[in-house]
Amino acid sequence: MTVAIHRSWSAGGVRREPMLSVAWAVTRRLPIQSTNARSRGRPRSMFDERFGAVAFPLTPGHILPTRGTARFVPEDRKRTMNHPADLDLFRAALSRLDEAAKHVQVDPETVARLRHPKSIAQATLAVRMDDGSLALLPSYRVRYDDTRGPSKGGIRFHPAVDLAEVQALAFWMTFKCAVVGIPFGGGKGGVVVDPKQLSGTELERLSRAYARAMASVIGPTRDIPAPDVYTNAMVMGWMMDEYSQGHQSREPGVITGKPIALGGSLGRDDATGRGAYYCIKQLEAQLGWQPTKIRVAVQGFGNAGQHVARLLHADGYRVVAISDSKGGVFRATGLDVPALLERKQRSRSLRTGYAGASVCDCPDCGAETCWCGDARPDQVITNTELLESDVDLLIPAALERQITHHNAERIQASTIVEVANGPTTPEADTILNRRGVRVLPDILANAGGVTVSYFEWAQNRGGVRWAESEVHERLQDIMTTAFERVAQFSSERSVPLRTAAYACALEQLDEAMSACGTERDFADAPKADQR
Ligand code: NAD
Repeated sequence: MTVAIHRSWSAGGVRREPMLSVAWAVTRRLPIQSTNARSRGRPRSMFDERFGAVAFPLTPGHILPTRGTARFVPEDRKRTMNHPADLDLFRAALSRLDEAAKHVQVDPETVARLRHPKSIAQATLAVRMDDGSLALLPSYRVRYDDTRGPSKGGIRFHPAVDLAEVQALAFWMTFKCAVVGIPFGGGKGGVVVDPKQLSGTELERLSRAYARAMASVIGPTRDIPAPDVYTNAMVMGWMMDEYSQGHQSREPGVITGKPIALGGSLGRDDATGRGAYYCIKQLEAQLGWQPTKIRVAVQGFGNAGQHVARLLHADGYRVVAISDSKGGVFRATGLDVPALLERKQRSRSLRTGYAGASVCDCPDCGAETCWCGDARPDQVITNTELLESDVDLLIPAALERQITHHNAERIQASTIVEVANGPTTPEADTILNRRGVRVLPDILANAGGVTVSYFEWAQNRGGVRWAESEVHERLQDIMTTAFERVAQFSSERSVPLRTAAYACALEQLDEAMSACGTERDFADAPKADQR
């Protein structure tokens, strides 16, 4: 099947439908054909080599009726964007706010304001592919709140990105910055694309197109992006360069997570994993863990997951299971984490820096899940099996909604440290709380990344460079202080760590929002004619 997009649809009130069609087609790797005034007679196919053969030919000059595009959108994608049914992830995020508000005295205005994003920018990126075709890719940037400082949050390149997800991620960023007390608000961005299907030049054009499209939204004192899923330091470097060229001045502070040579901070690459590691060290002290006895499973072996696995392994923890998007490996006696890391790094040169190899590829011959006659003791497992494996500590470090009401009863770990954003749904949380599973929430556990992003921004703005040891020391200090505050709130009020983290963050946000006055301050003010 092919999805047809007519260029004129990108204007006016019908904009959503072709965007949906493109998004849907890209997520399913379907070919897309564009028609426009110039090419109407010879519709050009986009992605056809990459995404499969064309099976739905467009007749020359054929333009699909606008409303007809709906039939190309399957039921699950029809709910995309502003349709209430697809706001579930965002609604789930808001439920955390409601729960936290029950435990702290905050102004009702604060809670009301935090129910809505400050601004939403959407753009269709027109990106020229290497074969001459044009890809039209929906993109978003949400600035959720900037009361405590410029909004801050990553940019995700993923086929499943949609507005509800970006809003939820921006909401979480707002609370994350508040809980660790760094002077930023929350934001997030995303592009609906599978970057692993792009060449290096296509990825660069896409990154630069995003920076141009969002140039009026982002800025060193306005909104500062960073890497997230499937974006990396090189992508950040391209975006900073594009923004700087547009503004005719070098602006390293517009984006963080850049290459070191372009103003990146030492210690940013492993900051998310390291921040989680410092939290785990606090748990270790609190619970009297002996690292060698603690069996760990890590879902996701990217920027966040790799480093937390590496640091725990180096510390003596028994990392028994690791997975990535293709599947996972398990070894009861503990995996050789440095060897898995090396294999992933080695395969990075393929295409555009994304690792070509999976943790479950055979280390001996490189074939997918071969294991050379099962000579090795490692066992290939699915991501579902990893989540439910018999471990003490489970670290979801991939995507959201991994622990749901479907599998929460089967989780065997006694502690979950959420390195991914939003890996546990509220329904699953209720089950885990009932079962006594301790959950260290994402807004605290993965705040190391944004904390060192703040250090990078501060270094860029101040024209200074800190040593890696200084970055680590400052990060440990911030993470430990935030952990202790949240843990204390949790034990004093007998609430789960997640509620405690949100409540602590909400107090910070309320203080800032109330500083300029609320209805309580103005309601009693005498009217001008009564003075
Ligand atoms: P990444 O792109 O570097 O890695 C993502 C990893 O997840 C890869 O190993 C990929 O193979 C794996 N993956 C993808 N889909 C999967 C699936 N369905 N099942 C299992 N594994 C899957 O991304 P990242 O930066 O490591 O981000 C991972 C999570 O951490 C995200 O939720 C992100 O929002 C969060 N996070 C990242 C940072 C950061 O600084 N990078 C900071 C805070 C939070």
